[in-house]
Order: sequence, then structure tokens, then C-alpha cells
Amino acid sequence: MGWMHTARFLTTAAQLHHLPPMDTPEIAFVGRSNAGKSTCINTLTQKKQLAFASKKPGRTHHINLFALGKQGITDTVLADLPGYGYAAVAKMDKLRWQQVMANYLVSRENLKGIVMMCDPRHGLTELDDILLEVIRPRVEEGLKFLIILTKADKLTRAEQAKALSIARLRAGGGEVKLFSALKKQGVDEVAQLLWDWTHSAEGAAPAPLSDQPHEEEPEALDE
Ligand code: GDP
Repeated sequence: MGWMHTARFLTTAAQLHHLPPMDTPEIAFVGRSNAGKSTCINTLTQKKQLAFASKKPGRTHHINLFALGKQGITDTVLADLPGYGYAAVAKMDKLRWQQVMANYLVSRENLKGIVMMCDPRHGLTELDDILLEVIRPRVEEGLKFLIILTKADKLTRAEQAKALSIARLRAGGGEVKLFSALKKQGVDEVAQLLWDWTHSAEGAAPAPLSDQPHEEEPEALDE
């Protein structure tokens, strides 16, 4: 969707209180390291390197914000939260950034929705469950929630159907979608849903049709 292709880097912050307070609707992307979060953001926005900026040394524990909106006017913010559960991260560091994330997810006032990436071959992990518990009260109060099952190209149709039904049981009031950056599966659906989340109060304007051709080569997906 053309709207998502307007994404541009806004800012990065190590702590919640360093993030600029904003009144623009914000959508947070969370997920275990290696779940495919950066690839998903890069595919949705058609910016090859956008979310990989979050993986630069010194930024992996940061919250990175990207702005969306035509004519340079920001109408939505994407927040790329640090990947979690990576074994090489020291225990204290892990605790520290889990705290940063939990703080962000419960107290960021302009937060409109959360997108959780999950590699369906591994299912929801213990840390995913902890996050689900943290956000559940906000989802019950109306916060939007989507589980993206990444790397769907690695599953057979039967496995996809099974992964969908398992994740739906866990998603509470949220939605679940299959996604493949490699096959471009689910890209338009996810973009449309995020548009609806952030624009529905404005009279549910129809989403602009894709107005940018796929100019970039698909990323090398090597896993
Ligand atoms: P992150 O740590 O969650 O940001 O994960 P990455 O986006 O870096 O992806 C982790 C690995 O999964 C990389 O090797 C990607 O190439 C691979 N990957 C991501 N999305 C897909 C996909 O849709 N299909 C396939 N086959 N591999 C993928």
C-alpha cells in the first residue's frame, strides 16, 4: 500500500522517557529476535534497510520510530521495539530491556495497536506469553492487536492452517495473519489492517490503492 511506502526514520531512544511524546497514532512491532520483524517492516514499507537500522550496534536495545504519511505529514508512527529472547544477550541486559518494553507497552499514550511477529515453526515462546499477559488488559480495553505468522513460505498449506488456528486461540481479541516476505503473502492485507486501525476514526476512508510499483528487488532471504 502506497501509504506504508512513505515510511521514514524519525528517532531512536534507549528509554521510554527519551521518546518524544506524540499524539499521532502509534503501532508497535514486537517479536522474538530472528522472528522476521525487520524483514516484515522492510517489506511492508518497501524500504530495504529501514528496520535494519534498528540492528546497528548500539541500537539493538532501542525503540526506533518511523513516520508514515503522505506529503511529509506524519499521520502514523511505527515503533520498532527491540527483539527479545536472543541467547547471547546478558541476563541483566535482558531484564533491563524487557522492562523498557513492558513500560512502553503499558504506558505509551498514543499507542493504537501492537503487531507481534511469530515464526510459526517455533510457535509462541515463553517471552511472547509474558508480553501477551502484559498487553492483554490493554487489548481488552480496545487496543488493536495482530499476530503475524512470518516465513509462511516455509510451511505447507496444512501447517499454515494449523498454525493459524493455534495462534487464534492465543490472540485473545486480536487477529492473526500469515505473512511471507519471500512470496509477498499477506503484505496488502496487513497494510490495509494497519491503515484501518489508524484511520477508522476519520470516517473509515478507503485505503489508497497501491500507487508505487514494486521497484526494489526482493531481499535475499537466506534462512
Ligand atoms: P528479526 O530479528 O525479527 O528482525 O528477523 P529478520 O528480519 O532479521 O529475519 C530473520 C531471518 O529470517 C533472516 O535470515 C531472514 O532472511 C529470514 N526471513 C525473514 N522473513 C522471511 C520470509 O518471509 N521467508 C523466509 N523464507 N525467510 C524469512
